[in-house]
Amino acid sequence: MGVLLGQSSRSTIRSVEPTRKGTWLEPIKNKYRCATCGKWHEGPALAYGFEAPAVYYQIPAEQRQDRCELSSDTCAIDMKHFFIVGNLEIPIIGRRQKFVWSPWVSLSEKNFKRVGELWEQPGRETEPPYFGWLSSIIPGYPTSEPIATRVHTRMLGIRPRIELEPTEFQLSKDQVNGITWERALELDAMAMHASKPARK
Ligand SMILES: [Zn+2]
Repeated sequence: MGVLLGQSSRSTIRSVEPTRKGTWLEPIKNKYRCATCGKWHEGPALAYGFEAPAVYYQIPAEQRQDRCELSSDTCAIDMKHFFIVGNLEIPIIGRRQKFVWSPWVSLSEKNFKRVGELWEQPGRETEPPYFGWLSSIIPGYPTSEPIATRVHTRMLGIRPRIELEPTEFQLSKDQVNGITWERALELDAMAMHASKPARK
């Protein structure tokens, strides 16, 4: 699966951690009890990205340098398959903060080139959306179906917004309906355990 990179985010979440005596609860800033391992972790980050599109990891490691051009936000494989990173924002019910995944999506060669042309172009947010396939495997959302998306260009310096086509895929529904805070913590724990320290 894709390698996740945890990204810190400003957070004012408060949670509680029981003391040894077990009767007194004390607020601890930015910690939460992990649904995956039961320990207390820093966070939740509520923001996770992926180092490369999922298909990148299917290419033998020794061929990647020749066949792939990978940056933090763009990837071309064999100069035939093209991908960019966008933000997929999932509302959390009753909170202003969102759960932000930053997955890869595929683009046509034409639209990939267009993204490059507009990279530093003021006003680029007037661009119509591009079609793309979701190209990262998101923890907590298993699927064997290809997931269609629309990629909305945003203002300079802001990653495009990814909108999933409305389907029965849980992530697509969550994008519209939001997730509970408890679910956000579960997803954060899954993502955090699947992540590795940032590449140096
Ligand atoms: Zn854990």
